[in-house]
Amino acid sequence: MPECIFCAIGARQAPAEIVYEDEETMAFLDISPVAEGHCLVVPKAHARNVFDISPPLAGATMRTAVRVARAVQRAVKADGMNLWQSSEAVAGQTVFHFHIHIVPRWYGDGGIHFGGRHRADRSALHAVAERIRAELNSQSPQG
Ligand code: AMP
Ligand code: ZN
Repeated sequence: MPECIFCAIGARQAPAEIVYEDEETMAFLDISPVAEGHCLVVPKAHARNVFDISPPLAGATMRTAVRVARAVQRAVKADGMNLWQSSEAVAGQTVFHFHIHIVPRWYGDGGIHFGGRHRADRSALHAVAERIRAELNSQSPQG
């Protein structure tokens, strides 16, 4: 099993609720969501962070992020969305494989709290993943 957890998810050697996959990128639910529908979008090829990833691969990852964000927005009826990327520990990066967080937002949600998070219930993650997959399946190729 690869040492990097996101490489392991990409290789299907670690479990994840994968909602989207193409040749270069994939998206799956964050295991400790800060909001319902919180997803991570990653390149399949390992890159540490923004200082390391090739611009074309970053572009492909962002293209997937836009597509997934729109599906998440419809799946959880979000009023808005934060896209978030942390590079290096000083900036809060804890998994050293480039990823873009997709965090749905609602009026009155009280803000995003990255501290004190808990692993989500597996069945709750599965249920929201199914809704996101359904939205992606009904999306036009332009997103
Ligand atoms: P960051 O702090 O920006 O590096 O974000 C890493 C994110 O990865 C955190 O939000 C974690 O909850 C999430 N995470 C860690 N391990 C897993 C995993 N096995 N599956 C899904 N998400 C994970
Ligand atoms: Zn990796």
